[in-house]
Amino acid sequence: MKNKNSLNKNEIQKIDWEKIQLEMKNKFGKDIFESWLRKIDFSEEFNDYILISVSTRFLRDWITSRYLDQILQIVKSHKQEINRIEILINENKNILNNNENKMNLIKDSSKNNVSFIKDFVFQYNRIDPNKNFENFVLGSSNKLAYEASKKVAENITQYNPLYIYGGVGMGKTHLLNSIGLKLKETSKVMFISAERFMYQFVKSIKSNEMVKFKEYFRNADVFLIDDVQFMNGKEAMQEEFFHTFNALMDKGSQVIISADRPPNKLSRIQERIKSRFSGGLVIDIQQPDYDLRYKIIKIKTEELKKYYSNQLNISEEIQKFISVEVKNSIRELVGALNRIVSFSRIYNKTPNLSETKVVLKDLLNLSESKVTIDSIQSLVCKFFKISKNEMLSSRRSRYLVRPRQTAIYLTKLLTTKSLPEIGREFSNRDHTTVIHSIKTIENLKKNDHELSTNIDSLKNQLLYNNSNEV
Ligand code: ADP
Ligand code: MG
Repeated sequence: MKNKNSLNKNEIQKIDWEKIQLEMKNKFGKDIFESWLRKIDFSEEFNDYILISVSTRFLRDWITSRYLDQILQIVKSHKQEINRIEILINENKNILNNNENKMNLIKDSSKNNVSFIKDFVFQYNRIDPNKNFENFVLGSSNKLAYEASKKVAENITQYNPLYIYGGVGMGKTHLLNSIGLKLKETSKVMFISAERFMYQFVKSIKSNEMVKFKEYFRNADVFLIDDVQFMNGKEAMQEEFFHTFNALMDKGSQVIISADRPPNKLSRIQERIKSRFSGGLVIDIQQPDYDLRYKIIKIKTEELKKYYSNQLNISEEIQKFISVEVKNSIRELVGALNRIVSFSRIYNKTPNLSETKVVLKDLLNLSESKVTIDSIQSLVCKFFKISKNEMLSSRRSRYLVRPRQTAIYLTKLLTTKSLPEIGREFSNRDHTTVIHSIKTIENLKKNDHELSTNIDSLKNQLLYNNSNEV
């Protein structure tokens, strides 16, 4: 046991925060570093993520919206396994208390299982008190999922398992978290992402701890598993998952699953698992409509105003603008508002409409409606130095085929057009030709580095520039 403990200690020291700070300084420049990044404290390192802390919510939002991706890249260059960074706000006493609780929990559970329980407990503890039913805003796209979750949380239903699916940033994790938060009061709750489950599985095999692994999971009264589409492990893992799942269901535990797609569309997951997923209630969260987006913006703006003691002023025009334009997900919507807040705080004034457009540029351009087939065809023709007539002709010379396939591929990627519609826009080609083009490019992209870079560059130009420079 002693051995294992000291091993853990070594692991914890792996990341040299001073070095990372130095690299941040080089990367972002002295000014930015001194203003924002020096203030970051390094808290703790886990297997696949690190915990850092800052003193205010504002700093957290500012760093998240501007620098976090790049900081993650730097951290990754030191330890590849790290795939996310969590930021604590340490001004808040509650957080300190939570940390104490966490430490106590860790101590307690270390009696049973020293080597990897710590991560588990943290995971368990990771149920976020700020994501609850009360602050989940309702609209027509998420009402059913909310109601089903609520019923499960109140133990007044036989929906088992409950399976919630929908795109990224739609509120799935928020709902799972809310269920966990509520049921934690009375039951043993296990809340884990599928990725984490797999990781823990592999780790347990390596350290000969499968018995504990099994016990640990099968002990739960409520088992919440997030992002199950990532469950793509080997047979042995799926086998274990299936048995865990069955054991839990058999003993009457409640199981709640989230994914980005319905059960029958899950790839690389055994049929029998899919079929068990479908056996309870399957419900989707759709994209938020304008009403919901506006409602969320209103509520969040009010919250922020209170937080900043009414010194914050975001005009109705800007609120409407964000609600109209940022359509992809609730995550982006809230992110957009946070950026506006950061801007207001830095420049001490509310951004006007054109400043807002600059601040939100990437989010706005990402909305697919902006990219037209015409702009794709023009840009691709220009890039490959062929004429539009040639691209749209039926000629099958090699030097025309690849550009044509590229344009078709980009159209599928960047617009909402269906396959037959795309076929029509390319001189009435059949939709099977369209599929073939897309597949060809997807395959080539995997091995042909140059082609892949070119396509990414075309894609970025279409998304971010209106001028079609090549
Ligand atoms: P998903 O798991 O579907 O990718 P999340 O649950 O992580 O999405 O949601 C992304 C962000 O948007 C979170 O900060 C979440 O709290 C917030 N959010 C999502 N849906 C709602 C909602 N209906 N009301 C309030 N906040 C929401
Ligand atoms: Mg999620």
